[in-house]
Amino acid sequence: KIRSQNKSTIFDKILVKQAPADIIYEDELCMAFNDIHPQAPVHFLVIPKTKIPMLEKVSKSDGQILGKLLMVAKELGRSRAPDGFRLVINNGRHGCQSVYYLHIHVIGGRQLKWPPT
Ligand code: 5GP
Repeated sequence: KIRSQNKSTIFDKILVKQAPADIIYEDELCMAFNDIHPQAPVHFLVIPKTKIPMLEKVSKSDGQILGKLLMVAKELGRSRAPDGFRLVINNGRHGCQSVYYLHIHVIGGRQLKWPPT
């Protein structure tokens, strides 16, 4: 049985340009594009080009790509939301993950609340 986490997702299609997206950054290892339902003036997603379905599936060999995703999120966040921003990774059902392709949300451009509830 194919687990739901292994199915093709909309982000697989965005990655190969088979689905449209507002791509704001791309290099050999990752891609960033604006969220289709932004929760703040700045809201984009950073994904690896090698598919990982969710954070809990990362292995030791994924350490380098995780670092890379954080570096790209930091660089883009700093330039697009200079007054501050937040990174979010939703994992699994209780984490409200809806797309099973690992992504870092970068949210900013307004005063955020903490705790987010
Ligand atoms: P999750 O809850 O899985 O962390 O968040 C998935 C995010 O992907 C949501 O914020 C949702 O708005 C965004 N999203 C879902 N479908 C699409 C799409 O087709 N294009 C873009 N750009 N974002 C999407």
